[in-house]
Order: sequence, then structure tokens, then C-alpha cells
Amino acid sequence: MNVYDTERMTESLQTEGYVPTDSVEDADMILLNTCHIREKAAEKVYSELGRFKNLKSENPDLKIGVVGCVAQAEGEEIIRRQPLVDLVVGPQSYHKLPVLERQIKVGEKRVEIDFPTEDKFDFLAKRTGVKRAPSAFLTIQEGCDKFCAFCVVPYTRGAELSRPVEKVTSEVRSLVDKGVKEITLLGQNVNAYHGAGQDGAQFTLAQLIWKLEKINGLERIRYTTSHPNDMTDDLIDAHRDCQKLMPYLHLPVQSGSNKILKRMNRSHTAETYIDLISRIRKARPDILISGDFIVGFPEETDDDFEDTLELIRQVEYGQSYSFKYSVRPGTPAAERQQVTEAVKNTRLQELQKLLVEQQKTVQQDMVGRTVRVLFEKHGRQIDQVVGKSDYLHAVHASGDDDKIGCVKNVLITKSNTNSLQGKII
Ligand code: SAH
Ligand code: SF4
Repeated sequence: MNVYDTERMTESLQTEGYVPTDSVEDADMILLNTCHIREKAAEKVYSELGRFKNLKSENPDLKIGVVGCVAQAEGEEIIRRQPLVDLVVGPQSYHKLPVLERQIKVGEKRVEIDFPTEDKFDFLAKRTGVKRAPSAFLTIQEGCDKFCAFCVVPYTRGAELSRPVEKVTSEVRSLVDKGVKEITLLGQNVNAYHGAGQDGAQFTLAQLIWKLEKINGLERIRYTTSHPNDMTDDLIDAHRDCQKLMPYLHLPVQSGSNKILKRMNRSHTAETYIDLISRIRKARPDILISGDFIVGFPEETDDDFEDTLELIRQVEYGQSYSFKYSVRPGTPAAERQQVTEAVKNTRLQELQKLLVEQQKTVQQDMVGRTVRVLFEKHGRQIDQVVGKSDYLHAVHASGDDDKIGCVKNVLITKSNTNSLQGKII
């Protein structure tokens, strides 16, 4: 979502005459888009800001802003800790950037972290440019009402909100007109989507997907991130019936211990999750399942951790993201009995060993198969193109740039650590 937001902010500032640059030395304004989900990500902001000190002494007109969830969570504190910052903007106020830019240009410092009542998407600049990369992100839902005990999202991104169906479809159409072939629908809780249709009736995510499926030129639809409790039957059916919906599902479980899941306020159990996965696999047997895991949540015992390993053995993940529990101020779990760092490290290592093995097996199983790949860019070698398979594996193949933007059948010949190699047929 930060990638999508960054793109939208860049577009908003382009209307003010800014152009993006790859080099901080060239910049008249630097916006650091930040993540608050774990402590490490949040602390990185201050070390990054420290690096800009010299730039500001060389160019006193340089403006520096912190945007994103750290901005939302820490507000004025950021300017207090690092006075070279001119601007602090939370995720719900990005549409105000052009106005804020004019204010900081004349020497004001601004902090904008309200949750305004207007819909920022209506005020963000229209997506411009004549041609776009073949794959694009699109936010359709923001915020979360679930309040898992470890998570800051409900506080930084606010209450759950879905964009209206017509706004989503017209944005997709305009992206497709600019060459986009694949859309990834984004939301902190994307499968809780309940956007209003034209007559005011609410659409489920599955209904939205079916509407997008009818758009000519759009070839692939993906969505992320989902919560197990919002995996409705119509969405599972869409994985069986909708040709454009890709066979990949990121469905975080966090833990395999029912005691821990309860304390996390996850409102699903290990059994309901496993049952859900088997219903999804029944609908779409080749679907690749991806997950998120937290080790060392307060009061997690060796037995609880063993339950998580057991769940992983049963599900067999093709992709995963795993984290040591990180204390987030203001969340309920922050106040509880903590697991030691040493235990967290050991558990993370063991968990990742198992997950990497599973990932390798799933990748290795692709060798000898023909898969469909959307080529997105040229590779590091001459005459090499890189794209993503239906299962979201990165695939390298020999071919010239006219393959970019096309979906081709590729025979997979080799599995590397994080990608596959193949031959276009
Ligand atoms: N909405 C999604 C995920 C949002 S955050 C869901 O409900 O699954 C992305 C991932 O970050 C989470 O799935 C979780 O695994 C991890 N995460 C969130 N808060 C964390 C914390 N305090 N410590 C460690 N990992 C955390
Ligand atoms: Fe955070 Fe996801 Fe739980 Fe919402 S559902 S609180 S975003 S982990």
C-alpha cells in the first residue's frame, strides 16, 4: 500500500511542478514514506532522517517531510526529535499535499494527522502518464476494525472504509487504457470490502472481482491482504470460476495455538483456518497459499509454538512472511508478560527453516510444468525478460522486450533460490 500511496503522492506533486528523481542530492523535496507495523521499521525513519542533515545544510531550500503511519502515530514528536523535518502527514491527508507544499515553501512547519471526513481519493490527482507498467496496485479498502491485540493498523490507518464500486472500476479502466494487464486490489483487510454500488447496494469483494473480470484488456486480478474470517463462500467460488482471478492467496494465520489466537483477538482457531484452506483448495486445487506468522507473542510457550509448526506442516505454504513479535505502544499486548528476545530468535529460526523448505518444494514442483507468465520488465542479462507466473513466482526467460506486457506460456526449466527460470513456448 505504501508503494501505491507513494505513486499517488508523486502524482499530486507533479501537478505542482515537481518531477520524481532517483537521487536525493537532486531533490527539492524529500518525502519519507514510513511504516509503523514493527518497531524496527519505525526506528529506521530516524536513522534515515539523520542522513539528510548534510543535504539540508548544502541546500537550505530543501524541504523534508515524513508521511505514512509513523507520521500518523508520532505526529509533532517527529519534528521535536528531528527539527530538520518541515512536514508530517498521515495517510488520510495525502490529498492535502499541494496546499501543504505551498505552506512549507514559505517557511512554515506543518503537521497534518487528522482523519478528515472528505474522501481523500476524490481529491488525489488523477493517475496520469500515457503508458504504465503491466502490473499495478490499486487501493480499494483502507483501515481495520478488527483490533488484533498486537497490531497498530486500526490506530494508524483508522476505521475500515471501502471505496465505491464505480470509482474502482473507472480507475481500473483508465489503468487498462494505459497498458496495465494485472491489477492487485489492496486493503489492510481487503476481503472485508463492502463498497457501495451505483444503486447504493453493497458489493462484496467477490462481486467487485466479477465486475472487473468483464473489463476487456484486463487479464489478471489479485488481492491482498485478507483475514480468514472474511473469506466468504462467494469469494472461494470466485477462485474456482473466475478465469482472471489468480491462483494465489495470502491468508495470514499468525499462530497455530488456539490459546494464543484467542489472546491475539484473532476470532478464528487453528481448526477453522485449516478447514478454510481445505475448502479453498477444493475449489481451486492448484492455489498457492501464503501466510504471515508471529513468533514470541506474549505468553507463547514451547507447546504453543509447536502448534504453529504443526499448522504449517498441515497447510504447506508456498510463500510466507514471519516476524518476531514487536511491542507496539498503545496496543493491548504491549502491557503483557513478554517472551525473551533469545527465545523469539530461536523460534523464528526454526519456523523459517520449515517455511523455506516448503517454499522450495513448491517451487521445485514447478520445474517441468508450463505456466503462464506476465512479463513486466527486462532482466539483468541481454535478451532476458522477467515476469510473474499465475502463482506469483518471479520467472526469468530469454526473450526480447516486445514480450513485456504480454502473458506467455513458459516451460519452467530450473528453480533458483527466489525465482524460476524458463523457456517461452
Ligand atoms: N491485515 C492483515 C495484516 C496486516 S499487518 C491481517 O490481518 O493479517 C501485516 C503483518 O504484520 C501481520 O499479518 C502480522 O503478521 C505482522 N505484524 C503486525 N503487527 C505486528 C507486531 N506487533 N509484531 C510483529 N508482527 C506484526
Ligand atoms: Fe492488524 Fe490485520 Fe488484525 Fe486488522 S486484522 S488488526 S490489520 S493484523
